[in-house]
Amino acid sequence: MIIGAGQAGAQAAASLRQEGFAGAITLLGEETPPPYQRPPLSKAYLMGALEESRLYLRPRDFYEKNAIELRLGARALRIDRAGKAVTLESGEALAYDKLLIATGAPPRRIPVPGADLPGVAYLRTIEDSDALRAVLAGARRLVIVGAGYIGLEVAAAARKAGLEVTILELAPRALSRVACPQVSAFFHDLHRAAGVDLRLETALAGFEGAGRLEAAVLQSGERVACEAALVCVGAAPETQLAEDAGLKVENGVWVDETAQTEDPSIWAAGDCANHPSVLYGRRVRLESVPNAIDQAKAAAANMTGKRVVYDATPWFWSDQYDVKLQTAGLGEGADQVIARGDPKSKRYAVFSLKQGRLLAVDAMNDPASFIAGKKLVALKASPNPKMLADPAADLKSLLAAPPKEQD
Ligand SMILES: Cc1cc2nc3c(=O)[nH]c(=O)nc-3n(C[C@H](O)[C@H](O)[C@H](O)COP(=O)(O)OP(=O)(O)OC[C@H]3O[C@@H](n4cnc5c(N)ncnc54)[C@H](O)[C@@H]3O)c2cc1C
Repeated sequence: MIIGAGQAGAQAAASLRQEGFAGAITLLGEETPPPYQRPPLSKAYLMGALEESRLYLRPRDFYEKNAIELRLGARALRIDRAGKAVTLESGEALAYDKLLIATGAPPRRIPVPGADLPGVAYLRTIEDSDALRAVLAGARRLVIVGAGYIGLEVAAAARKAGLEVTILELAPRALSRVACPQVSAFFHDLHRAAGVDLRLETALAGFEGAGRLEAAVLQSGERVACEAALVCVGAAPETQLAEDAGLKVENGVWVDETAQTEDPSIWAAGDCANHPSVLYGRRVRLESVPNAIDQAKAAAANMTGKRVVYDATPWFWSDQYDVKLQTAGLGEGADQVIARGDPKSKRYAVFSLKQGRLLAVDAMNDPASFIAGKKLVALKASPNPKMLADPAADLKSLLAAPPKEQD
């Protein structure tokens, strides 16, 4: 039984069959479309450049062909661990032997006045993206609350569509939770150059309008006129089912390195799961497609009785205007940052190190630095800083005999 028919849930169902599991698989999803990828919802799909069917992770007949019972529009309400059953909103109870929780992380809501006015949007689902596209079509001015990846991607899409865009960010820099200051500065400049009014250290007080959105009101009292607003201030792991079932929850469903919860019959994977990072020696919860896929694969293998440790190097990407960002590793805690290339050329990479060890690479239109950097991160290597900084140096040569961290 898998709860959550998103990126991780669909992957786990497919991987269970690849692992040779011949028993019954039920994939429960509260949404109505078949499992789909979310990244285009803030990019190509939002801009109308991709059909809905292209979002689907697998052809519609895949589930039937693989004897996966896909139950859509089916919300799980309760897990009865003692009785090994999941109760649906409809009241139906379904028995399980082994269970995977893959419920994702919906956007955080902000409890400000006017947040429910028509024109104020959140973005997670196909339905949200369709609604946002419709709002943008009738709008001239968009306010985005939160300068994280999704906010910046939508800003790029909206600028391309000719809208005036203002971004309100509480922190002193964009992407403050996920990127180093150099990367923040790169994207700040990119958006400013594209005509986005990106306001830092700016707090939203609420929204106002007579019947529909007319302005975002700042805590300073200033009103920013707009017909559309998107709130993207991060996501919170969907853990209610796990909590109610008495499972350990700490910024996500607590799992070990094999994606197993404290209950030997229950696993969790994807955005909702908090796991020990083998690479960094601390617990993390990641929100990215590669994490959802790789952790789901490990969980599926372990559900069939194998012992696979989830130790993939975290990575992530984002597309804004003509820039593709690829990030490998987690830069938190870095004590040295080395830039490679000229940000103005838009081919630029930033390496984050701690005591010489490479923690992460952020590569903008620089796939070679991303690929080499990702391998060096996985090796816990301490690469020569001069070579990292020199765009003429071949980073592949660092991989031949990387000096390893002594631990
Ligand atoms: C707009 C947007 C853009 C993104 N862009 C990128 C990107 O460029 N690169 C990248 O790496 N990542 C990106 N992400 C993040 C990525 O999509 C997620 O990390 C990934 O989808 C996580 O997979 P998941 O299976 O854990 O969760 P999800 O894909 O969110 O799936 C969870 C599913 O569980 C369902 N569910 C929850 N509770 C229940 C219940 N009780 N019963 C039944 N079903 C339930 C939910 O409805 C949902 O469909 C983006 C996300 C968004 C929203």
